[in-house]
Parts: sequence; structure tokens; C-alpha cells
Amino acid sequence: MALAAHLDTLAPVREKILAGERLDFDDGVTLLESEDLLALGELADTARRLRGGSDEVYFINNLYLNHTNVCRVKCKFCAFARTGRQEGAYTWDIDELVAHAVEVYGRESYDEIHMVGGEHPHIGYDYYPGVTRALKEALPDVHMKLFTASEIHHMTRLSGKTHAEVLADLKEAGLGSLPGGGAEVFAERVRRLVAPGKEHPDNWLSTHRAAHKLGIPTHCTMLYGHVETYEERVEHWLRLRELQDETGGFLAFIPLPFHPENTVFQRRGWRFSTGNDDLKMIAASRLMLDNIPNIKAYWIMISTPLAQVALHFGANDIQGTVMEEQIAHAAGAVTPQEERIADLVALVREAGRIPVQRDTLYNTVRTF
Ligand code: SF4
Repeated sequence: MALAAHLDTLAPVREKILAGERLDFDDGVTLLESEDLLALGELADTARRLRGGSDEVYFINNLYLNHTNVCRVKCKFCAFARTGRQEGAYTWDIDELVAHAVEVYGRESYDEIHMVGGEHPHIGYDYYPGVTRALKEALPDVHMKLFTASEIHHMTRLSGKTHAEVLADLKEAGLGSLPGGGAEVFAERVRRLVAPGKEHPDNWLSTHRAAHKLGIPTHCTMLYGHVETYEERVEHWLRLRELQDETGGFLAFIPLPFHPENTVFQRRGWRFSTGNDDLKMIAASRLMLDNIPNIKAYWIMISTPLAQVALHFGANDIQGTVMEEQIAHAAGAVTPQEERIADLVALVREAGRIPVQRDTLYNTVRTF
């Protein structure tokens, strides 16, 4: 009886999915309130296939860099940032950072640098186009996916330039795309509670809009599992979907579970999200974001076993090798800091899917 009742709550959503209709706000809440996890997964996988998805699952060989962990903002969920005088604070000099990236490339070539960092109060604007140019000149074949929208906003304050002008400077220096960080949850209530020092959430959207208009593709995220409601999660998806309708510039959506370790939330008793919630978020993201082609199972935060299962819940991308990832690990991620390509290939194959190594723009590098 209980199972039948759960299936009933999803029946209207299923009808819409099979008819190719768009889901609305109430449908999103219904998905998140559903306790029928397997039906959600099956529905998300069906939607993925109906929208042209195949058995191919993507990953990239990439290097994660963080040019500084010094940050003035003090988001309450962040275990990565330090003040300038705190133990463990660091800032890479441009030459040293480039030398490090080149040295890693010499050991194992990679296709993308993913680099984000804190909003350092004493680094001037020129550092950002400077480091972009230096990395691109040293590694011309590597795609530069650099700086969150919050960092771009920070650069507008440093330079007096608009978001579009800063992005144009960075593009000219070699920027290829923006990562999706800094979105958190767009609701102002949530932003006041978890990141009161951060710019208004509208800035995230206007920065990505400006990037798309300049031909810079971007990624989008949601950091879930802290103080937000289901309604606020759905609202977040709808705002992303609306922008994607307008510009088509998002390459992928990455749902990021909040990790409380080493944050104020840990002391207040917050726990890691559950596997149930993580899979539900993957499935509901696929169902709501009907115009974003790729949904990532971010194994660094949900673990490789759950990422493998997520491939049956609407995900079609497992991110990549993420050499030297630090931010999630500072917040207690217990996953290894690098998954070798062979491990990712095995993971995808065991899930019955076809592993495809991609570049940032989803061009195929190699099919396994
Ligand atoms: S999340 Fe980003 S902006 Fe917020 S404190 Fe951490 S590094 Fe700074």
C-alpha cells in the first residue's frame, strides 16, 4: 500500500515527462518530498534518455589549483578559507603557480585546469588576467576554467570595471570557461544565514549571463543540505533554467552536498547529507533542468560508489581525475585526492555504461 501511495504522488510528473512537458515549481517540490527513491531514479533516467542521452558517461582529466586560500568573505559553510595571518594561509606567486602546473603536466598531461580561490583582500586586479595569461602561455593546449562568479564580482570591485569588462579581459588572456561555484542557494534568506558577507545572489546570475553573451560557457551548481528548504532548492533550479532558456551557455549542473566538517555547522550538530538525499538531488536536478545537457555526479563529495549508482539516477558525468582537489577535502571529504583514469573507466563500465574521456566543452578525447 505504501509503495502504491508513493507512486501515485509521482504519477502526474511521470505523465508530463513522458509527454515531453516541462515540470513546474509544484512538481519540483513533489519530487523532493517523494520517498520513492527508485521510482525517482527510473524517472530521471527515462527523462535523460527521452532528451537524447545515451549510455555514454563523461569524465575529464583535469588539475585542480587554488591560487590562494586567503579570503575576506568568511562564508559559514567554508572550511577552506583562512585569514592572511592564520596558520596554513597561502598565496601562490604567479611564476611559482605556473611552474607547478607545468611540472604536473610534465608528469601527467591533463586537458583542463580548474582554478578557484579566496577573495584575497591584498591582491590587485592585475594578478587575475596575469595568472590567466601566464598559465595559458605555458600550457596552450590546456583549457582554462578559472574563477567563480564571486571572484569575478570581487574583480569588478578591485578594478571599477563591469562584469563584462572583467570577463573580456580574462577571455583575452586565455580564459576558456567559468566553473559553477559561488551559487550556493540563491534564496536571500539562505544567503543571509550561510554567507552574509557574499555579494547578492543576483550577481552570480548576471555574471554568468555576461559570460554567455561573450561566448564564454559556464557551469552551474547548488550547495544543498544546510539551512535551505525544498522550496528554495526548486526556486534555485528554476532561476538556472530560466537563464539557460535565455542564453544556452551552461554546460553542466553539479549538485554539491554540504560537508559540515571544520565549519561552524559541525559544532552545531549538522551532519553529512545522506545517500538518499544525494541521489534524490541528482534525479530531481535531471528532471527539473530539462535544458541543461549534463548532470554531474561529483564523486569527490558523494564518494565513488554513490557516483556509480547516480549514473542510474540521471547523472551522465562523473567530473574527472581532479588532481590535487583541496576544498571539499578541507570540509571532510574522505575520498582520495585523485582517481586515476583507469579507476574511473572501471567505475563507469561496472555501471553498464560507456566511459568517454571528454574535454571541457564535451568534445570526445577518447572512448573506452
Ligand atoms: S566559500 Fe569562497 S568566498 Fe566564501 S569564505 Fe570560502 S573561499 Fe571565501
